This record gives sequence, C-alpha cells and structure tokens, in this order.
Amino acid sequence: MIEAKAYAAPDANEKLAPWNFGRRDVGPTDVQIEILYCGVCHSDLAQINNEWFPGVFPMVPGHEIVGRVIATGKDVKHFTAGDLAAVGTLVNSCGKCGHCHDGLEQYCEVGPVPTYNGIDKYRDGLPTYGGYSNTIVTDESFTVHISEKLDLAATAPLLCAGITTYSPLKHWKVGKGHKLAVLGLGGLGHMAVKFGVALGAEVTILSTSPQKEADAKKLGAHHFILTKDPQQLEKAKGSFDFILDTVSAQHDFALYLSLLKADGIHICVGVVPEGINIPSFALLAGRKSVVGSGVGGIAETQEMLDFCAEKNIVADIEVIDIKNIHAAYDRMVKGDVRYRFVIDMATL
Ligand code: NAP
Ligand code: ZN
Ligand code: ZN
Repeated sequence: MIEAKAYAAPDANEKLAPWNFGRRDVGPTDVQIEILYCGVCHSDLAQINNEWFPGVFPMVPGHEIVGRVIATGKDVKHFTAGDLAAVGTLVNSCGKCGHCHDGLEQYCEVGPVPTYNGIDKYRDGLPTYGGYSNTIVTDESFTVHISEKLDLAATAPLLCAGITTYSPLKHWKVGKGHKLAVLGLGGLGHMAVKFGVALGAEVTILSTSPQKEADAKKLGAHHFILTKDPQQLEKAKGSFDFILDTVSAQHDFALYLSLLKADGIHICVGVVPEGINIPSFALLAGRKSVVGSGVGGIAETQEMLDFCAEKNIVADIEVIDIKNIHAAYDRMVKGDVRYRFVIDMATL
C-alpha cells in the first residue's frame, strides 16, 4: 500500500479532519499522481451530508483533481513521470457494455465507479477516495492529459464543472443562432457561460444574486436577469432555445419553462435531492422538453480539456487552504462563490 494523507469526513454530517490511509500499489496500467490542486464541487458537500444516498465513510471528497505523474505501471502507454495529469468524477466502469463501448462510461449499464464515495467492484471491492489528498492511483484509461499552457489551479474545476456543462451543450448542439440561458451562477454555471459563449450562443445569466451582475460581462455573458425581479422575467418570456439549469434546491419549473420558446429544452444538471416538480401544462404549452445530463465520458473530457487549451478557457477560482474547507462550504451554500474554490494541496 502507498501511504496517503487526506482530509476526510469520519461520518455523515461530520466535519472533515486530517486522515492517513493507504492507496493501492501502482498496478501495470496505473499511474500515481501527486495531487497539486483539487476543486470544491457542490456535490462534495451533498455527499458528505448524505443528501443523495447513504455514503461510504470515512469519505475523502474531491473529483476535480490535477497534479503530476510520479510513478507509472509497466504497461502504461500514455503517461510518463513528470507529465501533468487529471482525474475527474469517474475511476472505473465495466468496460464491456454498450455505453462504455460508446465512450459514455458515466452511463455504464453495470454502474460507473465514482472517484470517491463508491466501491470499485471491478477491481478490488474497496472504497474509492477522492482528491482532498496528496496522491491518487488511477488506471491510465480514467486519467486525462492537461495542457502546460493553462493555469493549473484554474484547470482543476474543468474536471467536473467543466465537463458537466460542456457535455450537454455539445450533445444538444448549442451554438450560433441559439439563445442559451444559464440558471444559477456558481461553479457549473460560470463554466456554462464560458462554453456557451465559446460555442457561439447568445448567453443570458439567470441569477438570484444581484451582486453577480457586474461579473456577467467579464465572464462573456450577453445579458443578466435577476430572477427575483418579475419585470425582468416578463421581458424574457418565450425567448430562449435552451436553459442549462445548475440549481441544487427546489425552484419553479413553470416559471423557467415559460421563458423557453416552443420546442425549447430545459437541461437539468443540478441535483435537487428530493426531486423536481414539473407542471404538465408548462410542458404541453409549446411542446417543451426537460432533460438531464451527467458529467461526461473520458474521451469527451479529454476533448473538452483540449478545447479549453485551444480557447484559453479556465475557471475563475479562489484558492483556499484545506483547513478552511468548511468556511468555503458555508459560502457555497449561500451562493457566495466566485466561482469555484480550489484547494492548494500544499496546505495539506
Ligand atoms: P454552486 O457553485 O453552489 O452553484 C449553484 C448556484 O445555483 C448558486 O451559486 C446560485 O447561483 C444558484 N442557486 C442556489 N440555490 C438556488 C435557489 N434556491 N434558487 C435559484 N438558484 C439557486 O454549485 P455547483 O458546484 O455549480 O453545482 C450545482 C449543482 O450541480 C449541484 O446540485 C451539484 O451537485 C450538481 N452537479 C451535477 C453534476 C452532473 O453530473 N449533472 C455534476 C456536478 C455537479 P445564483 O447566485 O446565481 O442564483
Ligand atoms: Zn462535481
Ligand atoms: Zn459499462
């Protein structure tokens, strides 16, 4: 076993604290990464708090992992020691089903293995531990390359916030001639704005936070609507082709669906733990769709990272000391994140 250090939640709803544990030894197709930065996703907090399902504890959160390769197995073909490398939300899948075959490992029919809060049933039946740690061992087929050109800390959030917004925009071919609304300007939302603009769409931010309006232009958005202002909403009725919804709390689907044109598509990426309530008439009137999307496959994650290197796209971040993780969570819950916290792992 490889000795590793981390911050872990000992049990559900408990505070994270330093924890020493063992990573598996580097296998023939594995790489060992020294983790330099890890992004803080709203999903980390949801899982520590058992909001989705009973978690596996102790839990080391973190699935926006970037660092350098420090060891490689004898059969590794695509990485050498010293390379930058990154790991996102998945570390394994069955590798045999139709979805795995199509590069949709996130939708593996037998079940993908999450980077943390999961059991690697295809390998050793042991729990997986995430990126709030000094090192990780992953199969090279679930490890991606990142460009030396991009700011490393600001690249970390691309591994979840980035791919989770890039994937649906590509799938539904959002681009030139489309009006895209991004609902919720947090970690995912601000990446959706950047990708929507880069793909050529006219982008509107729908936000509950008036203080974020000043950042809208800086992020490249064309318009900003304060969703607490009924007059601003009234003007936007029937105007969008797509809404990309990143909100993790109950919200009014009748209202947001009324902002779509006929045949408009409301794409849910935010997780509302207790489920959502969609009034039938809001769908019927205008033949509208509500759809969902989960992260992205490994090849698509690499494609997104290459796209970011080409277009110089990274997240807007606030780098934190790991001991301040709970203060960061508190601010995230209040919507006070500009626009992703990233842990400097040197502080571990
Ligand atoms: P975040 O940084 O906390 O951003 C969420 C934003 O939503 C907030 O900043 C806020 O923006 C807005 N918001 C919060 N509560 C709201 C409410 N009650 N009504 C309206 N707007 C509200 O979170 P994140 O990391 O981007 O994650 C967003 C969601 O996506 C979480 O549920 C997370 O678990 C989920 N997620 C899903 C996937 C996937 O595969 N589909 C992947 C990663 C994360 P404003 O201040 O602008 O209103
Ligand atoms: Zn995430
Ligand atoms: Zn599969």
